[in-house]
Amino acid sequence: QSVQAAEKTYEIGTDVTYPPFEFANKDNKYVGIDIDIMKAIAKSEGFKVNIQPLGFNAAVQAVQSGQIDGVIAGMTITDERKAKFDFADPYYHTGVVMAVKKDSKITGLKGLKGQRVAIKTGTAAGDYAKSKAKEYGFTTVTFDDSDNMYNDVVNGNSVACFEDEPVMQYGIKTGLGLKIVTNPVQGGDYGFAVKKGTNPELVAKFNKGLKKLKASGEYAKIQAKYLNTKA
Ligand code: GLN
Repeated sequence: QSVQAAEKTYEIGTDVTYPPFEFANKDNKYVGIDIDIMKAIAKSEGFKVNIQPLGFNAAVQAVQSGQIDGVIAGMTITDERKAKFDFADPYYHTGVVMAVKKDSKITGLKGLKGQRVAIKTGTAAGDYAKSKAKEYGFTTVTFDDSDNMYNDVVNGNSVACFEDEPVMQYGIKTGLGLKIVTNPVQGGDYGFAVKKGTNPELVAKFNKGLKKLKASGEYAKIQAKYLNTKA
């Protein structure tokens, strides 16, 4: 009779609300593309995950300080981050867009002169906006989560926000009173991340599992479930 070793549990941080990648459903259960692929990979590779919805920046910081093992939160793989994190293989392509209130007359960055723009702490989209603030003459105000950032625009306190295209599209599709006015820029890919030099076995397992999910069609099914695209 063989005794199986107990499966290891990894602590995985994620965003509070970043649909379709992570969000609480009607039953207050965390679901979304990130959550589903993380769980499917854990199942196929024989480990357990404890998902912690800490918020994007908090999750990134918690990995960096070694409090948790990894982060899956629609996190863009950037050269700057590669200095501090080891990323698994990319799993979703994205780009940054600017959104304004549905009835706004602003059609691009040129319309932001003298205006206030909402951005999200520690995000690639926020960094992009800040890099353009001087040239286009706008100021930025920072929020820790996407919902509060959107609300600042809906309420008219800010005239625009910057967000990843698939997330902004999903929000608008599900009733947010905003519209996208720019083409996506700063194209990049989402990746699962661990602190640099730690948990190499977790990255290897993630990559192995992701390959299997892609090969079996399960990954396409997960995407389709949240994006209504054909599997
Ligand atoms: N993709 C963006 C980034 O990595 C935003 C992620 C998020 O807000 N969850 O910075």
